[in-house]
Amino acid sequence: MGERALYGAVEAGGTKFVCAAGYGPCEIPREYRAVIATTTPAATLAGVVEFFERVGRVAGPFAGIGVGAFGPLDIDRCSATWGCILKTPKLGWSGVSLRTPLERFNCPITVDTDVNAAALAEARLGAGTDVDSLVYVTVGTGIGGGVVLHGRTVGGMLHPEMGHIRIRRHAQDGNFSGLCPFHGECLEGLASGPAVLARWGGRLDSFPDGHPALAIIGDYLGQLAATVALMLSPQRIVFGGGVISGRLLPLIRAAAERELGGYLPVTERGGGFERLIVSAGLADQAGIMGAMLLAGA
Ligand code: ZN
Repeated sequence: MGERALYGAVEAGGTKFVCAAGYGPCEIPREYRAVIATTTPAATLAGVVEFFERVGRVAGPFAGIGVGAFGPLDIDRCSATWGCILKTPKLGWSGVSLRTPLERFNCPITVDTDVNAAALAEARLGAGTDVDSLVYVTVGTGIGGGVVLHGRTVGGMLHPEMGHIRIRRHAQDGNFSGLCPFHGECLEGLASGPAVLARWGGRLDSFPDGHPALAIIGDYLGQLAATVALMLSPQRIVFGGGVISGRLLPLIRAAAERELGGYLPVTERGGGFERLIVSAGLADQAGIMGAMLLAGA
């Protein structure tokens, strides 16, 4: 056993589980990483346990393991189903515990959403190291948001689910009915990658400048940013995920500013919309780094 505490991290996603172990979010040895395809819960979680057993034999024991997972997820430690995935359209995964298989490692386990984990990493190590409150929004296959206030992720009855807020329809968005199986035209139903593909037949970053999709998606994400600013007043709103680009970000800022109508003193006190709304600083590493932070590293 080494002299320094070893931590484990899992980024549990719909297509893959990323596992890592190390001494901190920036100290993950190359050989202590594994990617396991998300198949059945039994096979996937067996792969996760096997990874930690292998690393544990060489470098353990673990001082803590953090899990950042797709949701919805029970993150209430007082609940009997704490650490379980709740009712999900993802076949076979409803009710599956992500915590139970890890209990054999006899260390504290923390389970939170993938986006809360990413928010934590962005706040500590990425785009929010100079602020105390941050919201992280990812826009890709789905839309999700995580919240960090005073260094801690936010949850309660459940966890933030800001991808499912209602937004006002853009005048040029026609009559597309939206893809969310629960709400049709919620934010995710209208502005996720699949929703872009469904009505314009491609990825947002493949469209030429001036394509109406850019203005429409920018408007929807700007509405989200304005709502987030009004409800939580974070010092920073970080956008990441496959749909976000350097071309989209100014459109999001402009839409948020339009939406707020000069009501919040963003420009006078917050350093302007360029400082309030920014792109992610950690790219695709935020999730696993955040899970490592959740572990206590
Ligand atoms: Zn929805």
